[in-house]
Amino acid sequence: MAHLQPPTYVLHASSSTRNLAAGIALTVALVLAQAWLPERSIDLAAPGAVSNLYLIAPGDVPGEPSPVQWVDYERRHWVCRNPANSPSQACGITLVLSGDDPARGRNLNGFDTLELDLAYRGNAAHLRVALRNFDPRFSKLTDGNSSRMQSINLRGRDVTKPVTLELAELTVPEWWITQFDLPREFNRPSVENVTSLSIDLTDSLAGQNHELELRHLTLKGPWIARDTLYLGLLCAWLLAAGTVVGRQWRALRRSHLRQQREIDALTARTRLLRVEQDKLRRLATIDELTGVLNRRGLESALEDFEAESAGVALVLLDIDHFKHINDRWGHAVGDEVLRRMAAIVSANLRTTDVIGRWGGEEFLVACQGRHADDAVRLAEKLRDAVQHGNFDTKGRFGITASFGVALAPPGASTHRAFKRADAALYRAKAAGRNRVELDTAHDAVTTL
Ligand code: GH3
Ligand code: MG
Ligand code: MG
Repeated sequence: MAHLQPPTYVLHASSSTRNLAAGIALTVALVLAQAWLPERSIDLAAPGAVSNLYLIAPGDVPGEPSPVQWVDYERRHWVCRNPANSPSQACGITLVLSGDDPARGRNLNGFDTLELDLAYRGNAAHLRVALRNFDPRFSKLTDGNSSRMQSINLRGRDVTKPVTLELAELTVPEWWITQFDLPREFNRPSVENVTSLSIDLTDSLAGQNHELELRHLTLKGPWIARDTLYLGLLCAWLLAAGTVVGRQWRALRRSHLRQQREIDALTARTRLLRVEQDKLRRLATIDELTGVLNRRGLESALEDFEAESAGVALVLLDIDHFKHINDRWGHAVGDEVLRRMAAIVSANLRTTDVIGRWGGEEFLVACQGRHADDAVRLAEKLRDAVQHGNFDTKGRFGITASFGVALAPPGASTHRAFKRADAALYRAKAAGRNRVELDTAHDAVTTL
């Protein structure tokens, strides 16, 4: 007996719970780390942090030293001593962020802030922090000014202590927009491909002295941008959920298919058993020798007739001197006579009539009917068919049979009718055989 297996996905429940707990713990850890761990930072003023570093100075005047000079290059310390009569004034420092390829700068998108720690001596009103962004759509290597300028002006007194700038505070100045006259979308700030960063004084510097030392210029930003982290977590969870759902779906499908196969096997086996059972039931009611009903089959058929309450006519026939056939020609010939008797009688019945071998060389025909005449007519027909039937291929003997006929009216017992048919048959034998005798006791009933 096959047993249906329980679905196997239930077995994964505890490992799934462990994985879920680990996933939640990892998510919480990443969110907390993003919020609490130290930020990524690069100090552009540190030695080796940038590929190049130079001072912003007015054009050289032949024979005179530049008004902008390093005090200590390593410490990014310089002075500006601008003559009072010089037409061009400049004082600042530029950090080059591009490498060998001047068109390829640094992507500062991952940074949020710029911390400026500057030691400044002088009385400039403003100090400008600017970066340049090379955009191949309009920037040219031959014109450094064509890289998009983004800047912020700080008050001189605000840089006496370290100051933190948001990169988002930097804007594209009006003069640059006006000078390059580009479509609107090119005038938006971008820190994607930053080729240089500069700090300079913007006011009129004529006749002034300024001393500056860039202690630190630190870019800061999260190791992973919050949006990126959350998007990554969302994708990871969706992927995990998809994997779990997919795995469970496959497990369910496998178990469903297995159960379906088991059900199919059980159904096939049940069908086979039913066929076997029908065969056995039929065999139990069939006479093996003649192929017609046996006594059990006949009794069951009589019960059915009785239940229908439509009246039943019984014709009981017994082969005359059958013992003699056996004795004279052998038992096998006797068997053949019995088989042919069943065939001859069956051939003379309607499909609704029933024939069976009651026992030995006695056969019973039962059919629906209320009239003795009809039953007697049928018995006579059978008697005639038997008398003229071919029971022996070699034609050595003929066969006759005697018939007893009785009726069981609607609601009456077929059992009692059988006894009356048997009595009539006895009379037929006594009256010389090869005859039909009607149960007279019953005649009176049928006339009702
Ligand atoms: P009657 O005319 O009075 O009916 O005489 P009968 O010889 O036919 O009746 P009897 O009751 O004396 O004998 C019936 C015989 O039928 C006896 C028995 O050996 C034989 N017989 C019963 N069943 C079978 C069977 O299955 N095969 C064969 N070959 N003979 C059978
Ligand atoms: Mg007999
Ligand atoms: Mg007999």
